[in-house]
Amino acid sequence: MKKNIAVIGGDGIGVEITVEARKVLNKIAAKFNYEFNYTDVLMGGIAIDETGVPLPDETVKVCKNSDAVLLGAVGGPKWDTGPGHLRPEAGLLGIRAALGLFANLRPVKLFDVLADACVLKNPGKIDMVIVRELIGGAYFGKRETYTDDSGARAAYDTMLYRDWEIERIAKAAFKLALKRSGNVYSVDKANVLDSSRLWREVVHATHTSNPEYAKITLSDMLVDNAAMQLVRDPSQFDVIVTENLFGDILSDEASVLTGSLGMLPSASVSESGVGLYEPCHGSAPDIAGQNKANPLAMILSAAMMLRLSFDMDAEAAAIEAAVEQVLAKGFRTGDIYRGLEGTRVVGCSEMGDLVVDNLG
Ligand code: NAD
Repeated sequence: MKKNIAVIGGDGIGVEITVEARKVLNKIAAKFNYEFNYTDVLMGGIAIDETGVPLPDETVKVCKNSDAVLLGAVGGPKWDTGPGHLRPEAGLLGIRAALGLFANLRPVKLFDVLADACVLKNPGKIDMVIVRELIGGAYFGKRETYTDDSGARAAYDTMLYRDWEIERIAKAAFKLALKRSGNVYSVDKANVLDSSRLWREVVHATHTSNPEYAKITLSDMLVDNAAMQLVRDPSQFDVIVTENLFGDILSDEASVLTGSLGMLPSASVSESGVGLYEPCHGSAPDIAGQNKANPLAMILSAAMMLRLSFDMDAEAAAIEAAVEQVLAKGFRTGDIYRGLEGTRVVGCSEMGDLVVDNLG
């Protein structure tokens, strides 16, 4: 089987970690007799430097024509002062919209061997997926900064959702829940926001629309409570589905439960087309170019690509098992090293090599 993969290394550690993910994918290709063809494309700060824009048309074209996209990270202080449309993050929003990536899936799993790296004293079992709506809500709604009639400076952003946007993200969450324990929390702010009241209504209508979903337990939770419950008792969650802004905040909060941003993969999927796979962290300019980055979030994102875009479940599971073995043997990048006996620090490239070696 042959697959075409567009690779956006991006900026900072994005470049280093995508190299490691490719090493792991190449081992999978050799072991299972696949052919993965990579096309490197520009996005973010490097694209601004080389082409004047954060998301060149050529990048969109290559990504649309690929079977999947791997993305490292974009951004850095060098590009922080430009106008909004000329910042690296504009590339991120642009590629999500261009590919119709409406659902962002963020698994938050605490590996047993990393329990010591969790910020909670008694974390219990943490294994959830946050399903975040990605191309609607306040980040894409009408906005304006202006001076009002009284002379005051004013600004607004619009959180707008259409019923079909809510329905498709609810279906994505239910589909996922059917493969897991079948427990879904829909997070909103329905006590205050109209968009949340519609959200709640449509999520419940979608739940009852398909007899298959009867196996799923659906509960609502207000976003302020969800933020508290995530640190009070994260083990109660299996699948959380929520809108764009709430999901952005909650998934970063949940990330600290796993010990490090460097452990968190993600997948962004469209209704029928190309998926984009990236770690949850940014370009980490403070450690870029020093072989200190943890490549595991990127490698686990590549595993999600195999499972969700290529239906390669066994191969994805092999990568996840290899990552667990490497951690169980005591190897840690600096971000997850706590000085415990039997553990030692390795660099980004060594960590990639270890995962490859443990794939057998
Ligand atoms: P960041 O995620 O880059 O870094 C936060 C902290 O976590 C830093 O101390 C960093 O060293 C550490 N860290 C992150 N990933 C790590 C890894 N794999 N291994 C080891 N340590 C890791 O967030 P930031 O510092 O707020 O942002 C830096 C730049 O990245 C900014 O320009 C921001 O806009 C951009 N950013 C991009 C994305 C993306 O491309 N999807 C996401 C978030 C931030």
